[in-house]
This record gives sequence, C-alpha cells and structure tokens, in this order.
Amino acid sequence: MIYLQDRNLYMEESSSGSPQKPEKTKYQLILIAALKKEIEIARRLDPEKLASEIEKTGFSCQYCGKCCQRAFGDNRVVLTPSEIEKIQKHTGLSKLEVAGPLIPETCQPEETGNKEEGREIDREISSMQPEISETDEEAFSKPSQLFELLREDIDSQGNIHAYGWMLRRKRNGDCLFLNKDTNRCRIYPVRPMLCSTYPFYIEGLKLYTCECEGFGGHISKEESRKLAEALLSRYIAELEDTLAMYEKYEDFEKDKEGLEIAKNNLEKGTCVYVIHDSKGITKMID
Ligand code: SF4
Repeated sequence: MIYLQDRNLYMEESSSGSPQKPEKTKYQLILIAALKKEIEIARRLDPEKLASEIEKTGFSCQYCGKCCQRAFGDNRVVLTPSEIEKIQKHTGLSKLEVAGPLIPETCQPEETGNKEEGREIDREISSMQPEISETDEEAFSKPSQLFELLREDIDSQGNIHAYGWMLRRKRNGDCLFLNKDTNRCRIYPVRPMLCSTYPFYIEGLKLYTCECEGFGGHISKEESRKLAEALLSRYIAELEDTLAMYEKYEDFEKDKEGLEIAKNNLEKGTCVYVIHDSKGITKMID
C-alpha cells in the first residue's frame, strides 16, 4: 500500500485486492477467453500488410493540434500504467497530476474565459514544475449527466469505479501538454501510444481511422512500416493491459445509499474513484 497526500488529491494503491479472491462470473470468464484469443491472433498480424494499408490511405501531420483540443471532438487519451510512469519520469509530475479516472464525456467545453488558464499551465509544464493550479481541473462535466452515465459503476459506499486512466486536461478541455502557441506536444519523446499512432487505431483486428486533416498526405514506405509496427505494439499492449485488468477485477456491491452518496459528492465536486487497471486498484479523491 502506498499513501500519497498530493495537494488536495489523495491516492491509495493496492495491487492484490482482497486476500480471498471471489470466483469469476461466467461472463467475465468469456471476456477473458475472448481477449486471450484476440491477443494470440494480434501477435500474428502482418505489419507489412498494415503498412501498405497506411501507405494507401496516406497521412502527413499538419500540426493543426486539433486532435489534442476538446473543441474539435473527444480528445481523451487513454493511458496504461506504464505510460503514466514514463510521463511522470519525464516531467517530474505526480501520478494524479498526469492522469485521472477514465470517465465519459458529458458536454462541450466552455469556450470563453478559459484561454488564460490554458496558457498558465503551458508555462508550468514547460518548466517541468510539478505544480498544477486549481483552475486546471476539468470543468466541463455536468454532475447530473455524469451521474446518469456512471450510475452502473457506483458501489454501496458511493465510490465511482472507473476502468482505466486518461491524460489530464486543462479547464477548457485541451490536453494538459499541448503548447497552444506552437500546437506542439510538450512531452513529445514520451507521448502516449495513442498520440504517436493517431489518426490510426486497430479494433477487433481491423484498422480504423479518426477524423484528421492529414489524411491523403504523402507517407513513405519506411514511415508507413514504422507506424504499422507502433500500431501493432499499441494494439497488443492495450489488449494485454485490459486482460490483466479483467483478471484482477473483483465485483462490488451496489445499493441506493451508495447512489445517493455519489450523487451528493458529484454535486459538491469531490468524488471518490476506484480505478481498476492492470496493476490492481487505485482509490483516489478527485
Ligand atoms: S500528449 Fe501531446 S500529442 Fe498527446 S494529446 Fe497531449 S499534446 Fe497532443
């Protein structure tokens, strides 16, 4: 167990769960078996074929920075625990300054009044100071909408269970590490796999693309091959991470009282999250 008092953030990690692990349900066992199968097939995917699909699609980054900004769509960046550690080492920031619980989007970011706050954090990150002002907390999740989206994940104590981590964003929803003046990433050498393979991703053994201004641009054979390899590594790493999370996962009790507690907490803006990942669970107040 590690206890960390982090400004107003509290975190408690546990890798083993309860000593007596409950039996997995039939549904959980099916999910685990399906994931194992998918990993096995994914390991045999041919990077050459993937590279030629990427080359045919064409892609050249325009450095518009839109994929990092909330105003242009869902810019949540899912992170594995090892990616969080890499960013922590590079920036000197704490775990909870880098990442928070992976929760659904509820509404559009506020477009006014937040630009100055965005610039402020840019300066802080550029000097790699582990200081994040209160104003950089996300402010665009409406408590009532969030409660409805999360109600199935609330336990009898009022804790909200989340399944994974996402990169912290500024108050206006932009990625914490986006330099607004240059549209460049401040943590480029350690940017998450999702960012280094954008706008491509693999799901269910198929290649997909996200909306992007860079489509159709020239990409060399060599670059396509590198991107294909990175995509495959990301796909397998994410599947392995999800598998490890399912294997560690333990179900929780739910009741009306828990829902009331969580609803009140959400309205007050202070929630207790239990984050499940490949290493175990992290309990945090956010
Ligand atoms: S980590 Fe870098 S590349 Fe990824 S969303 Fe943030 S600014 Fe963009």
